[in-house]
Amino acid sequence: MSDFDYDLFVIGGGSGGVRAARVAAGEADAKVALAEESRYGGTCVIRGCVPKKLMVFASLYGEMVDDARAYGWDHADASFNWKTFQTKLQAELERLEGVYQKLLDNSGVDRFDQRATIADAHTVELADGTRKTAKHILVATGGWPVRPDLENADLGIVSNDIFDLPELPKNILIIGGGYIACEFAGVLNGMGVEVTQYYRGAQILRGFDDEARGLIAEEMKNRGVDLHCGTDILELSKDGDGIKIKATNGTEKVFDQVLFATGRSPNTDGMGLEEVGVELGRKGEIVVDEYSQTAVPSIYAIGDVTDRVNLTPVAIREGMAFVETVFKGNPTKPDHDLIPTAIFTQPEMGTIGMTEEEARDQEPVHVYVSSFKPMQQNFAGRSDRVLMKLIVSQETDRILGCHIVAPQAGEMIQMAGIAVKMGATKKDFDNTVAVHPTMSEEIVTMREPTRST
Ligand code: NDP
Repeated sequence: MSDFDYDLFVIGGGSGGVRAARVAAGEADAKVALAEESRYGGTCVIRGCVPKKLMVFASLYGEMVDDARAYGWDHADASFNWKTFQTKLQAELERLEGVYQKLLDNSGVDRFDQRATIADAHTVELADGTRKTAKHILVATGGWPVRPDLENADLGIVSNDIFDLPELPKNILIIGGGYIACEFAGVLNGMGVEVTQYYRGAQILRGFDDEARGLIAEEMKNRGVDLHCGTDILELSKDGDGIKIKATNGTEKVFDQVLFATGRSPNTDGMGLEEVGVELGRKGEIVVDEYSQTAVPSIYAIGDVTDRVNLTPVAIREGMAFVETVFKGNPTKPDHDLIPTAIFTQPEMGTIGMTEEEARDQEPVHVYVSSFKPMQQNFAGRSDRVLMKLIVSQETDRILGCHIVAPQAGEMIQMAGIAVKMGATKKDFDNTVAVHPTMSEEIVTMREPTRST
């Protein structure tokens, strides 16, 4: 008989926390509790990946309707009704939240629908003052969008607020050049909002392959996003129903709405972590070892709160590895190497491994690039281009990086990612017969390097 109320207390009911809780309870027979102060499903399900992807789908129908006309369909002009979409979206999120709650209940996890903080190495305090003890505590509290340190920054919204807007603005200024800024620029532009985007750096999507992000920037502009790199916001103030801004490029303009997509911070404030000896990093992230263990041996942390690789499937894997390590006697490190990922910009990007810039700093490489107009959009009269790119080690012939900018690039990179993760060589790609006619066949038909460095 354990001296604790629980074997495991999980704080945070997002993707990582829910997975760890239900696997520990369901597969390892642990006595588990979980506390969530907001909605089950966390950022991914409630205010991130899922509603964002549904908005991406919604935003793409406009151009599909136009293209359909080029393919011989005869129909009236289409217009987008935000209210209709939003009502359906909210119902879907409620359904998914219910699924998450049921998954926990069916696994026998005790749920506490309130905030929890850490009182000591084995004790959690709930918002109502109740204390629960646990042999292990897992912190999976995720992250939160942050505004820049600017006077009146609260006049602008953050990504969490987009899904609840009572109506779409006529125009919007988006600040930032990361995933969230670029994805919402495409979504809102597709829904008919006039989008201006300011990014302080030289090119959006810093850290991704230069050629790939260059093409995305160009295509975003072609689609109507008024993108300004090397530009930042200096001041904002209220102006009637709008927001007046001053920018570093001298622009003074009133926008209906300003969206700050300027990064996310780990949710560690007021959690009692440092007080019990858990180490926090510069951004407030929980510092963990390769097994997700903190400086306090009974306390572990997974997901965005640790600011390692901030992606839902990574948080889930970290949660599974934690359960293997702590409850199944099988020490397991989550594998953070060669993670395929997609950015749902318009056009979409799928990527795995090193960028050309990273790879050529490391070793001599062959670079294979194919950029072309895809059949479906070309027929409809669009000028869209796609990009298929492989970075190959000259010494071993291994694929070091694969970058795809194309409609459905996320679907493509999941498949290519298996091969790259397995250590496929360029010869393996060459030996695979093309699937014709597709866009992705180009990935196995690039015979001569475009350049070697
Ligand atoms: P990012 O860190 O990716 O981007 C933040 C952007 O804001 C950068 O362009 C940054 O510029 C800029 N910025 C930061 N501070 C300021 C400031 N004070 N003034 C002006 N600009 C500023 O964060 P996101 O919020 O876009 O996304 C957070 C994380 O969420 C991502 O890293 C990703 O892991 C995850 N995510 C994943 C998605 C997916 O998988 N499809 C989708 C959405 C999010 P600079 O480059 O100069 O630092």
